[in-house]
Amino acid sequence: MTDCLFCKILAGDIPANKVYETERVLAFRDIDPKAPTHVLIIPKTHIATLNDVGPEHNADIVEIFAAAREIARQEDIAESGYRTVFNCNADGGQAVYHIHLHLLGGRHLAWPPG
Ligand code: 5GP
Ligand code: ZN
Repeated sequence: MTDCLFCKILAGDIPANKVYETERVLAFRDIDPKAPTHVLIIPKTHIATLNDVGPEHNADIVEIFAAAREIARQEDIAESGYRTVFNCNADGGQAVYHIHLHLLGGRHLAWPPG
């Protein structure tokens, strides 16, 4: 996807502060962090929204959550706690249409979100 911001990060056309990478996923720090730890975990396959995820993406989704657990350990927030979020479409607050799991932690996170 040539016009996708996160595909451009995957291609190396836009720099990112990478924290974790496997054959299927890449994780990098959010450019506008909402918590001391705010990492975005993306599949290397372009998938626009969570609504577009199908059984062919099972391995990607499993690896995204495995990455979240591993990064939480790396960031030393696994025990204090953290939040994972997929925003979907307009009401969900999605701005970049390449699915990404937000991993947020390092402070107490209020609930419900705004
Ligand atoms: P969404 O609102 O789609 O769930 O989240 C998109 C996230 O991408 C936002 O938290 C935003 O700060 C982040 N973001 C937007 N542009 C860039 C960028 O160029 N680099 C990085 N690292 N994060 C970005
Ligand atoms: Zn993309």
